[in-house]
Amino acid sequence: MQFAEFAARAAEIEDEPGDLATVDHVCDLLGDAGTDLPVVVRFLQGRVFPAWDATTLDIGPALLHEAIARAAGQNVDADDVEAKLADVGEIGAVAATYEFGGQRGLGAFSGSGPDELTVAEVDEQLREIAATIGEGSERRRLDTLFGLFNRASASEAKFLARLVLGEMRIGVGEGTVRDAIAEAFLDTDVEDTNGDANADIDADEQVDADGDTDADPDPDDPDGAGPPAESGTPDSASVDGDGTDDPVVAVEHALQVSNDYGMVARVARESGREGLDDVGLEVGRPVQAMLAQAGSAAEAIDEWGEAVVETKFDGARVQVHYDGETTALFSRNMDDVTDPLPEVVEFVESAIDVPVVLDGEVVAVDDDGAPLPFQEVLRRFRRKYDVEQMREEVRVELRAFDCLHADGDDLLDAPLVERHDRLAELLVDTDAVSDISVAADPDEVAAVEEAALDAGHEGIMLKDPQSTYAPGKRGRNWLKRKPDVETLDLVVTGAEWGEGRRANLLGTFLLSARADGADDRADDGTAGGDAYVTLGKVATGITDEELESLTERLTPHIEHEDGQTVSVEPAVVFEVGYEEIQQSPTYSSGYALRFPRFVGVREDKSPADADSLDRVERLADEQ
Ligand code: AMP
Repeated sequence: MQFAEFAARAAEIEDEPGDLATVDHVCDLLGDAGTDLPVVVRFLQGRVFPAWDATTLDIGPALLHEAIARAAGQNVDADDVEAKLADVGEIGAVAATYEFGGQRGLGAFSGSGPDELTVAEVDEQLREIAATIGEGSERRRLDTLFGLFNRASASEAKFLARLVLGEMRIGVGEGTVRDAIAEAFLDTDVEDTNGDANADIDADEQVDADGDTDADPDPDDPDGAGPPAESGTPDSASVDGDGTDDPVVAVEHALQVSNDYGMVARVARESGREGLDDVGLEVGRPVQAMLAQAGSAAEAIDEWGEAVVETKFDGARVQVHYDGETTALFSRNMDDVTDPLPEVVEFVESAIDVPVVLDGEVVAVDDDGAPLPFQEVLRRFRRKYDVEQMREEVRVELRAFDCLHADGDDLLDAPLVERHDRLAELLVDTDAVSDISVAADPDEVAAVEEAALDAGHEGIMLKDPQSTYAPGKRGRNWLKRKPDVETLDLVVTGAEWGEGRRANLLGTFLLSARADGADDRADDGTAGGDAYVTLGKVATGITDEELESLTERLTPHIEHEDGQTVSVEPAVVFEVGYEEIQQSPTYSSGYALRFPRFVGVREDKSPADADSLDRVERLADEQ
């Protein structure tokens, strides 16, 4: 395909306001691309190399401006280009204002003179620029780029300039290309078994608008601009590999595993649906990372019956590819981070002797192996120089939590518990494997969480034990436990004696808020009766010693006993965490706390200072 034709079609797409019509244009273009299909697909996304490939053009604005200026003629220099850029705001539009050496006027693409640029040639020369390194490379790179502009028309120059900087700005996102591949090469008339599957998964054009409330900076994206290669596709039945016939889903799946739009387009055209289904994991080629949503233990256990509970490490995501000889490490955005992390490479190569793909986190640790804050990892993660010196300063270790491939077996479709078993077999006798436990009871989850926090970790992850590894998806199968909402200060108005060994201790505590309008009545600090409304019971998060001291404090306030249950005169205020406030007929407030957790006694508060039902209502509304 002539590059002029590509540019003309790109201009048409740029002018097209409608999303559906854009897909049609792209679909037509892919259909006409012939042998250039993979290149055209990449160019449309402003890429010369596939997303997984760490090679970059490394052409900065200065070099580009210089090349444009040189091609534009004797009277133009890089300063002029920059002045125009300040005025026009976008380099493609600037490039299109010049008459270059090879300016051939409109309509040139219908003929194909000897000097016409082709898509293949532009691709080849840009790759040559990427490969030009070493002494004098800057000049040679400039010469090659100048050579391209020198042969470009205004419209070609516009898209060439944008391509060089990696941004086509024609409104073609990953979702558009995916839909267009399906429309162009697969039979899209099959019945859609999931309703509007496209609507389900067409979220990638709003990368990071996925409700992710990350508090942490992402090492791949410290400015929070949003990861370029992350599709952030939400979970949906239709992309879960559930055998749906939706061709868009087939394309999506192949893309998530391979991160190579050009290859996927070619496979779709040549081998259709079957070919796409065969696109699998390859050791050395990163898979899009599976992502997590915020969620609670309640949701996890409600949804799955039981949940895998695992430490959430406060580090940077890393995907380990070891082919039996060499190791490559990739970041969450699939950038190659092998060189900055030599000790992870050494560890993998000493511990494992079969090909593997592992998913995990690189954490910084102190001399005792205890975790250090995430910022420490950042100092190592993208380091190009002085790696050995930094290695002395910040010690990093791998914490692997998933295994996508082991010794010839692709495990993406295996259940999590099986994948984790394989991981544990591979890394036996090391600290590098996350410990998991399977919990069906929120108390067990709380206990693991407490232990994780005590050990200095960030928190916990909850995972569906039976879930497959879904590349690129921020689904409901992995939940990062929400940090607690604001705590409540509640009055203890009842309790229950424990059982067995704890029969002499009060173990479960009934919690109450001040009733509405109780303000006037409670100023003696001991108001009772209907001044309080119940809200739930707490038994979690209390150590044996605390139980003893609480029993001692509350026993003098016991009003009546009925079997194991006692009512207690309001005297002690607990600070209580919880996951959610639900409406409930069980308690007199009309609300119940989900998973209340004892934080401590508010020694500084009397019952009159406890939270009111008003505040509970407000917090419930805000959820
Ligand atoms: P967030 O960055 O807050 O969206 O949390 C998800 C991230 O937590 C993942 O992308 C991982 O980098 C990280 N993480 C830490 N520990 C785990 C774990 N055990 N399982 C999965 N992800 C983890």
